[in-house]
Amino acid sequence: MAGGLKGRKVLVIGTGIGGSAVSALLAKEGADVTVLERNSYAGGKAASFEREGFVYDTGVHWLARGDKGPMGEIANIVGADIRFRRLEPAMQFTTGGRTAILSQDMDDEEALNSLFEQVGVLPENREGARALFKDMARERSPQELEELDEVSFSDYIAGFVDDEQLNRVLDGFTGMYMCISRRAASAGEFILCFSSQAKEKNLCYPLGGMRAVPMAYLEALEALGGEVRFSTPVEGIVVEGGKVRGVEAGGFIPADVVISNNGIKETVAMAGRHNFPDRYLAMVDSLRLSFGAVSVKYALDAEVVKPHLFCYFPDFRDAELVERQAAIFVPVPSAADPSLAPPGCQMVLAGSLAPPGLEDRDQVKAICEEMLDRIENTMRDLFPGIEDHVVWKIRTDTRYISEISGRWTGEVIGVAQNRHQVGRKRPGNITPIEGLYLVGADAGARGVGTEMAAESALNLWRQLRGA
Ligand SMILES: Cc1cc2nc3c(=O)[nH]c(=O)nc-3n(C[C@H](O)[C@H](O)[C@H](O)COP(=O)(O)OP(=O)(O)OC[C@H]3O[C@@H](n4cnc5c(N)ncnc54)[C@H](O)[C@@H]3O)c2cc1C
Repeated sequence: MAGGLKGRKVLVIGTGIGGSAVSALLAKEGADVTVLERNSYAGGKAASFEREGFVYDTGVHWLARGDKGPMGEIANIVGADIRFRRLEPAMQFTTGGRTAILSQDMDDEEALNSLFEQVGVLPENREGARALFKDMARERSPQELEELDEVSFSDYIAGFVDDEQLNRVLDGFTGMYMCISRRAASAGEFILCFSSQAKEKNLCYPLGGMRAVPMAYLEALEALGGEVRFSTPVEGIVVEGGKVRGVEAGGFIPADVVISNNGIKETVAMAGRHNFPDRYLAMVDSLRLSFGAVSVKYALDAEVVKPHLFCYFPDFRDAELVERQAAIFVPVPSAADPSLAPPGCQMVLAGSLAPPGLEDRDQVKAICEEMLDRIENTMRDLFPGIEDHVVWKIRTDTRYISEISGRWTGEVIGVAQNRHQVGRKRPGNITPIEGLYLVGADAGARGVGTEMAAESALNLWRQLRGA
């Protein structure tokens, strides 16, 4: 290791995927790392809880590349023990009343032909659809991706094909990858997510629930001599003369380096806006966030839901259905890891996108309640009798995401991956304040949610060890 960090006092604010990963990576380099977490549990948006023999995740998660992505790379470096279960087929997709099974072979021509047929892509559009998927899956240099970063994903698709059913499938993917609309999404970013998943063919879920990932990193941190303090909210980041001095967390804690995992907007507020140059503040203020989400978590006393992961869009030609149902993303974690539910039972999560960060809390509540009712209607329609098997169920809204992540806004991913905020235009890990860094989905990386947070930790680690 380059001597820069050895023995230096590093404080990490937050135990999300980004915070827990970077803390273990830096402890491995010999830094004296302490992590301060406001919650009594680890993981932020990637936490899990237990209730009456069921384990459920705070989010609604599936991991694009599992051990073959950055989460696995970090585990190997720090010696963390995480086991992932690969899922085959990848998922079921229902739209416009038609159902398709997606295999992990998203670049296989035969699998694609069958997908287009099952989902009802018009015969005259299939050649364009094939060309689109082939182009999305091909490996690109960073420069080639950069050229597509500022192109809207919708415009990129339109260069190949315009098919209503295919657009729904692509809406589903954009929602799952980035939690923003197809029009807002960056084509470069989508292609990066899609091509890396298509290449690795390793869509996974972590055994033990989503919490297994941050907890394994924190265990590795402790084994390397680091410390985690739960129920320790950081109230402020102390800056003097353009340099970080430490944090306020029930008293002053000095540090050489402070790494914040609690979001770029919150970090700036905590460190004091007057400490940042106007240009940086203007950039931070202009950042837009991904959508929020609502979810219903079902603990069931029978195996009611057959696919282990599915995405469902109501038939948009049926006005009554559109009024009653929601587009939903439904992972069944206990299908990947049966230990997450008692024998013969099921843990099922059903989620849908929702607006984040509205100023008016009552308005957010009303919108979320309506969305949650629609999710429950959809699940009742798809699985008649599901209500007879409910041991318990929990409805969560965007305020819940705010609580678990400690951010005001309740967004799913973090800073949105729209075409003005990815690649070169994404905020970096380094801030204008000496010794203050950002880690997590907001800064310094690209990719799908949890993987972007992990990649951000890897990138910061590379920068600091090389410093
Ligand atoms: C409903 C939902 C579904 C999702 N589905 C997927 C999916 O299928 N696949 C996928 O890859 N990603 C998914 N994501 C996105 C993914 O979970 C996030 O992008 C990722 O986990 C963010 O990690 P992070 O490191 O940025 O930090 P966060 O998870 O935001 O964690 C921040 C941490 O900082 C702590 N903190 C905040 N303020 C303070 C303070 N003042 N003092 C001390 N601690 C503080 C918080 O308590 C928290 O532990 C989903 C997210 C949600 C909410």
